[in-house]
Amino acid sequence: MKTLPKLLSALILATAPVVAAPSPAAAVTPAAAAPPYHVVRPGETIKSIAAAYGIRRADLRAWNGLIKPNQPSPDGVLHLAEPAGGRLTGWRSWIEKVTPGTVNWNAKDKCPVLPADLRKVWVTYIDFYGVSHQGSIVVHRTIATRTQRAFQSLYRMRFRIQGMSPMTLNAPYIDDMGTVTAGYSCRVVNGSKTWSQHAYGKAIDVNPVQNPMVRGRYIDPAGGTDFLRRGLYRRGMMHASGAVRAFTDQGFYWGGRWNSLKDDMHFSMNNR
Ligand SMILES: [Zn+2]
Repeated sequence: MKTLPKLLSALILATAPVVAAPSPAAAVTPAAAAPPYHVVRPGETIKSIAAAYGIRRADLRAWNGLIKPNQPSPDGVLHLAEPAGGRLTGWRSWIEKVTPGTVNWNAKDKCPVLPADLRKVWVTYIDFYGVSHQGSIVVHRTIATRTQRAFQSLYRMRFRIQGMSPMTLNAPYIDDMGTVTAGYSCRVVNGSKTWSQHAYGKAIDVNPVQNPMVRGRYIDPAGGTDFLRRGLYRRGMMHASGAVRAFTDQGFYWGGRWNSLKDDMHFSMNNR
């Protein structure tokens, strides 16, 4: 059974997204190929964005399900036309237990956490085309609720995520799994024998390509070289004044604040 905790149900109601079926006319606009969008920068408002594009404030709010007087958040991505894929649906989330098979658990790997202590958290997210999906992320059971809240905040901000599992369903056009927003992974820190916080299920990577890890000249993933200018506001990038807050407000630490290296995609519970 997919039952929602009481508190979460209350949160969902508080989100109050606009749910409307797309009109047939909207569904066949050329916008389906390249939906126009705007990435919100610090200080921008519905008024300033609408004025910049010469559109009505009420339309901008309606296309993006932004209820007055809420203002957009930096790193949020707003539709600049009626969304071809239909307006956003309500945010939904639930938590499932995992089986050893789900997390590729094998006793001989000596992973530090047992599958019984991991949970699969399902959340609604918005992809790079502005379409919403149910994506899942595996984390330690002790951070399942705050993970839900962080992703709910991202959704409210209209932040976009390139892909979440199951990718075959959510983003079949992507074959590079290095793009996936994910949590648990039984692995060591690169170039060491120390377990990564991901191996404990206590770290989450968001949009790796758009928020790469940078250590000197080493960049991971390699595709992240296009996103080294962090002062830009582009789809999927996270900044301290914007999407990062979805996680730090829930007690996560951000790898973008490290000095030895910068890991803008990385959020963890112990700042490692
Ligand atoms: Zn990470």
